[in-house]
Amino acid sequence: MNETIGSLAVVRGVAELRRRVDAWHRSGDTVALVPTMGALHAGHLALVARGRELADRVVVSLFVNPTQFGPTEDFTRYPRDEAGDAAKLVGARCDLLYAPGVEEMYPQGFVTMVSAGSLAEGLCGRFRPGHFAGVATVVSKLLLQSRADIACFGEKDYQQLQVIRRVVRDLDIAARIEGVPTVREPDGLALSSRNAYLSSAERQVAPALRRILAETAARIGRRGGIAAALAAAAAALAGAGFTKIDYVDAVDAENLTPLTRSDRPGRVLAAAWLGRTRLIDNVSLSPQAEGRPGAIRRESKGT
Ligand code: AMP
Repeated sequence: MNETIGSLAVVRGVAELRRRVDAWHRSGDTVALVPTMGALHAGHLALVARGRELADRVVVSLFVNPTQFGPTEDFTRYPRDEAGDAAKLVGARCDLLYAPGVEEMYPQGFVTMVSAGSLAEGLCGRFRPGHFAGVATVVSKLLLQSRADIACFGEKDYQQLQVIRRVVRDLDIAARIEGVPTVREPDGLALSSRNAYLSSAERQVAPALRRILAETAARIGRRGGIAAALAAAAAALAGAGFTKIDYVDAVDAENLTPLTRSDRPGRVLAAAWLGRTRLIDNVSLSPQAEGRPGAIRRESKGT
């Protein structure tokens, strides 16, 4: 009756998830949740490692959430490898995998959606209508289902992180939200499950996204004109081989409104296409605020 994949415990329903988490809470353990859509890589595992540092138990959820994909997006071809993911999670010392089916998350009659208002309208929200409502809804559900004390999210998806912080604050969801620095390939490309879509020629071009964002942040940081720096960034991305640029923007790091002064905490974000693959990335405007890529402290004591 108790499902495992390899040595990893797996639950598929809310009732069983709560039974396990409640038992941990009763014994005094804190619980971190790491929501994912699977096809796990070292970026996801950095979130698990951070969860282990912050809590006694780590639950990873694996759910390719249909409500955050647009009708023309890659929901059906999104990479899925539950057995491979489970093996990685054993290595990362995850305590429990929560892998619900679509029927468990969106049963017959489901109608309620969580909207994050203006935070969800700019940047990626302009190009992916409904995406952040899907994210806010599924993350709210996962937090309420698991009753986790902490949940870890990557800065890689910076707008998502800010949306989730706001939703949790606005809805009084009792979980602390922890942002984790982006884990990158040695050439600077942010790890992403979607990198698997890139051809080898596209993969050569892809690291230019991070490089150009870093150059743009440096230029704005030197009190360069923001509009001119962003226009130069868009031109540089096109010159590097990106086939379509959805946006390159500099925004306030917290409320995501357009940055008007370079001395405010800010973030430079972009979304750009290489053929059929849409890449996103972002960098901090104050270099000291940018965590070292992937620099997650290792836990020193075993549990
Ligand atoms: P996903 O499976 O793409 O929905 O991502 C699940 C979580 O992993 C989200 O919080 C992402 O921001 C985070 N994540 C994805 N890629 C990275 C990365 N390269 N570094 C750090 N976190 C990441």
